[in-house]
Amino acid sequence: MDNISIYLSGYGIRPSVQRIAIMRFLLNNLIHPSADEVYESLRKHIPTLSKTTVYNTLKLFVENGAAIYVGIDEKNARFDGVVSQHAHFRCKDCGHISDFPMNSDLFIPKNFKGDVEDTYFYMKGICEKCKNKRVFSYDNKKNLATVH
Ligand SMILES: [Zn+2]
Ligand SMILES: [Zn+2]
Repeated sequence: MDNISIYLSGYGIRPSVQRIAIMRFLLNNLIHPSADEVYESLRKHIPTLSKTTVYNTLKLFVENGAAIYVGIDEKNARFDGVVSQHAHFRCKDCGHISDFPMNSDLFIPKNFKGDVEDTYFYMKGICEKCKNKRVFSYDNKKNLATVH
């Protein structure tokens, strides 16, 4: 068995060729892909793959804890092979989603006696690349304004 098979088995998921390919894609592409992106990237290699299989497999991964659902993008459900706790930051300009380290214990009141089982922490703003672009286009406009 390869590592991905062992990984899936560890989450109680029977490793099939298609499941292994989808899990490998998630772990090798930490871009928080949508189901469509997973499908488009894998269909070249697995001609028998259907969109329904991709959707159902991602759902199965999330239900079993092998992947997490990222709801930061209103238009598309996104998926993450990194299941350790982290926060997500989405750029409003380019849509890129980055991982931020986080410790949710800081948010849990000391007197809370229940169990927190799932944590979703989303932040939105402008990434560094887009921020620099914005400043540049603003400067350009300013320059043009002084020329005329
Ligand atoms: Zn950006
Ligand atoms: Zn992530």
